[in-house]
Amino acid sequence: MMIYLDSAATTKPSAGCIAAMTEAMANHWGNPSSLHKIGLNAQLCMEHARKQLAAALDCEASALTFTSGATESSHLAIRGAAAVYGRRRRRVITTTVEHASVRGAFDLLEEQGFEVVRIAPDADGILRAETVAAAVDENTCLVSMMLVNNETGSVLPVQRAFAMIAREHRDVIKHCDAVQGFLKLPVNPQKLGADLLTVSGHKVHACKGVGALYHKKGIRLKPLWKGGEQEGTLRPGTESVPLIAGFGAAVQELRGTVAERAAYVGSLRSALIGQLSSMPDVRINSPADGSPYILSFSVKGLRSETMLHFLSEKGISVSSGSACSKGKQSGVLEQFGVKPDLADSTLRVSFCADNRPEDITVLCEALREAQARLVHKR
Ligand code: PLP
Repeated sequence: MMIYLDSAATTKPSAGCIAAMTEAMANHWGNPSSLHKIGLNAQLCMEHARKQLAAALDCEASALTFTSGATESSHLAIRGAAAVYGRRRRRVITTTVEHASVRGAFDLLEEQGFEVVRIAPDADGILRAETVAAAVDENTCLVSMMLVNNETGSVLPVQRAFAMIAREHRDVIKHCDAVQGFLKLPVNPQKLGADLLTVSGHKVHACKGVGALYHKKGIRLKPLWKGGEQEGTLRPGTESVPLIAGFGAAVQELRGTVAERAAYVGSLRSALIGQLSSMPDVRINSPADGSPYILSFSVKGLRSETMLHFLSEKGISVSSGSACSKGKQSGVLEQFGVKPDLADSTLRVSFCADNRPEDITVLCEALREAQARLVHKR
């Protein structure tokens, strides 16, 4: 038996993705920059994928730059924009609940002498648009705020914050890490008011190692590396056509609409909440209005690692907090108001449309067994 409930960590490549990658490797293996037919063939394949991604984001294909994943996209956005717009305006704003990739980019800016302001949620665990907007002043060049938190599924008020900032400070660049929202909630960079927006392939049934950065026309970025002319010089290096083709195909292949998929996984999440609520010593950490794809909860008296291994032995894959931190505490749960002892006892369950209601039943049976067998042994 294999029950995979860790789609916020990564997803299984779809059949369409695998077929497109295989086709690209077999038949579109040229260098997209080459001027001969074989090169042109590879370029057409890549541009087809760019259009598929643009359709999903409802933006111009020319606004998209392919990268190696969300980590690179966010570094290109944050460090690339700070290098251009931060020569005189040295203040940059982010939140305390960002993914490590965004946190890392801001740490590097801090080392360069930028004043980094990290906005935390209020005592009630809610991060408010007003607080983010209030931190912006005339010395600020950049704001970065994630759309959906990867540990709790909390949806941040990005659209509201960016609109407030745009009203008062038109020249501040606004970046959003939309990795956990893309194709899960309606994500449209223009509607969000984002100048720059990060997405990743492997969270949406494409392969690992490919992502994209949406980049509004007119916004200048300094590339992370100097090299060839690929991707309009923003991302030097020969493009991985198979990865990119697979990304486009995976995005196009997703069944149903964003709303239909969200309704389905939302029903699974509600069923899980229902079952967990009837179990003793379980606390739900995710907000009720969070992403339907993620549920974080703590089981008092059981350490995350113990539960994770117990479930893994039964063929059930979940995550303790965020998989990117390899079990290491990121501190993000505490930022959302989870007490440190409960943060140590947290599991993150994350869904995709392939999950079935039976997965929830089996998970909850296993959790009940873990409570019965393991809690008193501590
Ligand atoms: N941002 C968020 C919110 C994520 O959840 C992740 C992956 O877990 C990333 C960024 C990093 O994505 P990638 O693995 O494509 O670099």
